[in-house]
Amino acid sequence: MPLLSGRAGGNLPAAAARMLAAGGLVEEPSHRESARARKVPSAKRLSLFETCANQGCGSGWLHLFRSRSAPVFEAGWNCSAACTEARVAAAVGRELDGTGARIENHRHRVPLGLMMLEQGWIDAGQLRRALGAQKTAGAGRLGHWLVQQQGVSESLVTRALGLQWSCPVLPMEYHDAESLTALIPRLFVDAFGALPLRVAAGKLLYLGFEDRLDPVLALAIERMTGLRVESGLVQESLFRSAHTRMLGSSFPQVELIEANSEAGMVKAFSSSIEKARPVESRLVRVHDFLWLRMWLRPMTGAVPEIGSVQDLICSIGMH
Ligand SMILES: [Zn+2]
Repeated sequence: MPLLSGRAGGNLPAAAARMLAAGGLVEEPSHRESARARKVPSAKRLSLFETCANQGCGSGWLHLFRSRSAPVFEAGWNCSAACTEARVAAAVGRELDGTGARIENHRHRVPLGLMMLEQGWIDAGQLRRALGAQKTAGAGRLGHWLVQQQGVSESLVTRALGLQWSCPVLPMEYHDAESLTALIPRLFVDAFGALPLRVAAGKLLYLGFEDRLDPVLALAIERMTGLRVESGLVQESLFRSAHTRMLGSSFPQVELIEANSEAGMVKAFSSSIEKARPVESRLVRVHDFLWLRMWLRPMTGAVPEIGSVQDLICSIGMH
């Protein structure tokens, strides 16, 4: 055993062990530490890698002879490609069955115009004319017409939307799009109109939206990044320019997968994990997408470096 531990220690990047340890994923060693093990800072963590995370693993003690320290999927090491696939299959099933994608907000909302009228921010004439313009044009949100045609200030409309959604209006100062692109794939920033604004204290992500929140996306980002997400609205004109700027920045490498069956998705995800041998990988559903993220190196801060993560996104079609 000491020999095996020492050998595995050589294969396990110290930083990877630190990352796993920091995530609270590591079992305390219940046994001996050889002189050699003490020399390697990560050697204490080895007990994790002696157990395949696949509960149905059939390799028994034989897997101790395998020199793999990666890949890791959802905080568990997999001793073989077959075990990776079994665990990915369970995760894909869990995400497809989950109700996570169907959280919708059914709370009754006071219509924006009435809300603004009630607050005394517009008068009945302004509301009537804006509603008329919206009807005639057959397009545009009421807030747009209030601003464009009735001269209502944009920040009042945003405040009213914030009341309507019971969420804060988030400020846009110091938005550094470049430093936040590694948080979520460009596809989600684009398709769901979400704008990561900033990370506070390494724990809290402020996520901005233009006119409505997306709790499904916010929850998926929490599960993926481990950051708590605080959603809010951003004033339209500020949102638009920042959003455009962010979409023009560089994002982590992403692969869009086409799969016409659950088995096909499992194959694609698990073979990517086997190929990339990530130090961690996670799978979450975001609306009609499955998002697999692989960390090729341990994180050094709250936001991964762009080159250290790789995303796979698979459309699961309408259910
Ligand atoms: Zn196994």
